[in-house]
Order: sequence, then C-alpha cells, then structure tokens
Amino acid sequence: MRQVAIVTGASRGIGAATAQLLARQQFAVCVNYRSNHEAAHNVVASIRQHGGQAISYQADVTDENQVAALFEETRNTFGEVTHLVNNAGVLQRQTRLENIDSDRFQNILLGNVMGTFLCCRAFIRQAAKGAAIVNVSSAAARTGAPLEYIDYAAAKGAIDSLTKGLSVELAARNIRVNAVRPGFIHTDMHRDGGEPERVSRLAPSIPLKRGGTAEEVAQAIYWLLSQEASYVTGSFIDIAGGR
Ligand code: NAP
Repeated sequence: MRQVAIVTGASRGIGAATAQLLARQQFAVCVNYRSNHEAAHNVVASIRQHGGQAISYQADVTDENQVAALFEETRNTFGEVTHLVNNAGVLQRQTRLENIDSDRFQNILLGNVMGTFLCCRAFIRQAAKGAAIVNVSSAAARTGAPLEYIDYAAAKGAIDSLTKGLSVELAARNIRVNAVRPGFIHTDMHRDGGEPERVSRLAPSIPLKRGGTAEEVAQAIYWLLSQEASYVTGSFIDIAGGR
C-alpha cells in the first residue's frame, strides 16, 4: 500500500525538512501551510525535482472545516492517509508570565494544541492498521521555558499528554503515536519569538555546544513513522543536544 503523509506547517523549518525527507523515502506528501504560499510551493517544487510526489495545501489546522478539507484533498490525490506529522506550531515574544494576557495565552494554546487534536481525530477516523502519528512537542514541555514563554511550554505539555493517552487508545488498532521534543533548532521561528539569533546566543549552554538543524529533527520523525520503529509507541525522542 502507498505511504501517504500529511505534514502540517511544512512551508518552512522542521516541517519543510520533514516533508522533503519523507518524499525521499518514497512517501507521497501533502505539504500543509497556513499563509506562505510561495514557500510551500518551493518545497513541493524541490520534492518533484528530485523525483518525489507532493502537493501543497493551504489550511489553518486550528479550523475543523479546513482540517477536513486538508484530509479530503490528500485522499483524493494520493489515497488513504497513512502517516501524520503534527508539526505546525506558534510562538510569541519572550516575556515573563505576569506579562502574558489572556488573549495571548488562548492564542498560543489554540495555535499549538487545537491543530494537533483536530488532525489526530481526522486521521484516526480513516486510518488503517500500521498507520502512525508523530507530534512535534518541545524541550520546553520539560523545562517550562521560564522567563521566555511559559504559555508555549504549557501548550507543548498538553501535546505530550495527548500523545501518551492517544498511543494507548490506538494500540489495539496497531496505530502508533509518538512525539519528538526538539531543543534549540535553527529555524525562523525564533524571529517570531523576538530574537532571530537566539539559538546561536544559547549554543554555549547546550551540552553539545551548538543548536540543532531541522534535518536532524526530521530524521527522528522519519524513524518514528517508519517500520523500523514498529514496537515504539507513546514514546518521546529528545533532540536537544543533551539539554
Ligand atoms: P516555523 O519555522 O515557525 O514554521 C512553522 C510552520 O507552521 C510554518 O510552515 C507555518 O505556516 C505553519 N503554521 C503555523 N500555524 C499554522 C496553522 N494554524 N495551520 C497550518 N500551518 C501553520 O517553526 P519550526 O521552528 O520549524 O517549528 C516547527 C515545530 O517544531 C513547531 O511545532 C515548534 O513548536 C516545534 N519546535 C521548534 C523548535 C525550534 O527551536 N525551532 C524547538 C522545539 C519545538 P506559514 O508560514 O505558511 O504560516
């Protein structure tokens, strides 16, 4: 059976690297994005140039109807969706909890948790035995991200709980659910957090003395999706340079 993956938030960063790696491993890939049409188009063009199969699809994964349309378009193009990477996530500027207003807290929870919930639900309603999900959490779920973004850390903590619970709910159907917890990874997300060079600044504090790359995270996601990880479910891979 053809392996068909949806990667949410794949127009750049970790999602784009994951979509590209999965396509090299013979997955047909749907490159989901929210707003950056040109970047998503470029990811698809690069996959096709290397002989892979991909489409891009604009959908805000926090919206139930758009998630339904994302799955329908992927299914109509490639067949049943067999693998899901819940990668889309959002971050706001670094600050202490006392400065976070309720609108921001709500937006961060919505932007990081709702999409994962809605995509997991759409996926498992149609998924067959052997299917797999990888959720992209964060080392922040473990550290709590004090003085920076406790709201984001709390959202990623919710992703970890969802991963654990769903892995047990789906185990009898032989559908695996795992998560990766990246540490400081060189992507444009840190610009949204107000400090584009954050990873380089913090590199000396990382045991491996450098930030990670999107490709290094993608490799772990691919392994968790693959049959090589057939006995792994409800597990977390920390990709944080020893942090
Ligand atoms: P990024 O460069 O900011 O990319 C985020 C992607 O998510 C973009 O493609 C964006 O699409 C998409 N997106 C955001 N909200 C969306 C929504 N509601 N619906 C659909 N797509 C949406 O992020 P990244 O650094 O690669 O991070 C990817 C994941 O890894 C996130 O979950 C993040 O929390 C996690 N993570 C990152 C780091 C790090 O150091 N970078 C560390 C730990 C965890 P558009 O640009 O088209 O809007």
